[in-house]
Amino acid sequence: MTQNLIDGKALADELRTAFKTRVAALAARGCRPGLAVILAGENPASQVYVRNKVSACEAAGIYSQKILLAADVSQETLLAKIAELNANPAIHGILVQLPLPRHIHEETVLEAISAEKDVDGFHAENVGALAQGNPRFIPCTPYGVMKMFEAHKVDWVGKEAVVIGRSNIVGKPMALLLINAGATVTVCHSKTRDLASHTRRADILVAAVGKPRFVTADMVKPGAVVIDVGINRLSPEEGGKLCGDVDFEAVKNVAALITPVPGGVGPMTITMLLANTIEAAERRMGA
Ligand code: NAP
Repeated sequence: MTQNLIDGKALADELRTAFKTRVAALAARGCRPGLAVILAGENPASQVYVRNKVSACEAAGIYSQKILLAADVSQETLLAKIAELNANPAIHGILVQLPLPRHIHEETVLEAISAEKDVDGFHAENVGALAQGNPRFIPCTPYGVMKMFEAHKVDWVGKEAVVIGRSNIVGKPMALLLINAGATVTVCHSKTRDLASHTRRADILVAAVGKPRFVTADMVKPGAVVIDVGINRLSPEEGGKLCGDVDFEAVKNVAALITPVPGGVGPMTITMLLANTIEAAERRMGA
């Protein structure tokens, strides 16, 4: 076992145990948190993610509703379903699994979700609140990463943080959270020149690229905290296993702390979805 590992699975279990008290307090007031998960199409990875989210809800005592729509579902039908869920008092959180089929306009769909039920934190109102430093729903993956920093007492104030990736789901909200927390943040992407010159300065390095073993040991400052968000499936010739964006075996010898894949950020993402759903129910109950 690597000594400097950030064990996302263990932290996720700890947090999920603590959620039980909050769910019980809501139950005592006649409220069961409810999450609706909409999946359009048959993307195999999305099917696995949705199944995992629904079973995590069940284990946490959260009511969940899985809505499966055909890949050729019309945008109107999808929007009508969201409107129905927005009005349903048993549902506190609504999640539309991405990516959506190509004929559907993602932004229109995400904006249709009530901002009060937007447990993924992708609605423009919630993105704006996060950018202003007053977040309401924090996107689950970067939220989970911040919880990992907290659990390991990572001091981010004044530290150099480098985020590789600028997606709306991971990179941008991760950068905003780190800025709000007091780090000095650099965001790198596919147009960044001399990437390693940035990553080598990082006290905190977050990789959200989607390329297996992209971050090599020579790109990492000794003693850095390295968070690997990537989830990549290796080819059958390479063993077919899941693998992160970081060359774990080499980088673990350089980093002070590092997340594995699997068992790092992944379990935390689902855990923070549960946290946001419970939070949405608590807000509805005025708690
Ligand atoms: P994405 O939307 O594809 O974004 C990837 C980012 O990486 C983009 O900003 C892209 O730059 C940048 N990039 C690509 N090639 C690069 C290069 N050579 N140098 C520097 N930057 C480069 O992906 P995402 O949704 O953010 O997800 C990233 C990874 O995290 C994926 O493996 C995904 O499966 C995983 N993920 C994991 C979780 C979890 O729970 N663990 C959750 C979400 C995502 P441009 O913007 O310039 O194209």
